[in-house]
Amino acid sequence: MSFSTPKFPRPPVLFCDFDGTITLNDNIVAVMKHFNPPGWESIVKDILSESKSIQQGVGEMFALLPSSMKDDVQAYILNNAGIRDGFPELLEWCKIHNVPFYVTSGGIDFFVYPLLKPFGIPADHIYCNGSDFSGDNIEITWPHSCDDNCDNGCGMCKTTVIRRFPEDEYYRILIGDSVTDFAGAKLVDLVFSRSHLTVKCRELGLPHIPFETFHDIIHHLNEGGRSS
Ligand SMILES: [Mg+2]
Ligand SMILES: [Zn+2]
Repeated sequence: MSFSTPKFPRPPVLFCDFDGTITLNDNIVAVMKHFNPPGWESIVKDILSESKSIQQGVGEMFALLPSSMKDDVQAYILNNAGIRDGFPELLEWCKIHNVPFYVTSGGIDFFVYPLLKPFGIPADHIYCNGSDFSGDNIEITWPHSCDDNCDNGCGMCKTTVIRRFPEDEYYRILIGDSVTDFAGAKLVDLVFSRSHLTVKCRELGLPHIPFETFHDIIHHLNEGGRSS
């Protein structure tokens, strides 16, 4: 079997969002909808309108849930999250073409790692937030928060991860769907977008290709990231 090598101006590297991108829906929103702690809806609204930082908003939302609900919350997500079509195939494509693949997630460790386990992605290629269930209420921890170059209050700072791959050495590609991807989308060479992120890219005139499944992305990657 032979594989043609896609033509990129520089070696590509992929940064892929988790919630609503690898999974069909946003797991944080799904948890809040299901357990419905009073006050979560206005927090989501404020995050989406960018009037509240993601870090502050996500922290506040989980603080609405008692730590004793850990097992219920985790079970709910693991039982209800669906994986978007073509994800294993994209990982395989990256292996074949020697393209580094990073999960850059604004989600939380207690659901991100278990949901990704079947796919064999090395742990050091997965970035997400942490969690602490030792207090009365769930506390989110931030092992990858913004560095000196980002004041966005990302929580898990995608731009910090992306900047470790210099723009003159790499063709940086971001895959995502929503507000946790906005800051990173402004940095990269190409965005594969869904939902709110497509609207944002259109507004800001960022190079982007809307997608539905990872098969769509593979198709465009085989064309060297061009939109035809
Ligand atoms: Mg997302
Ligand atoms: Zn940041």
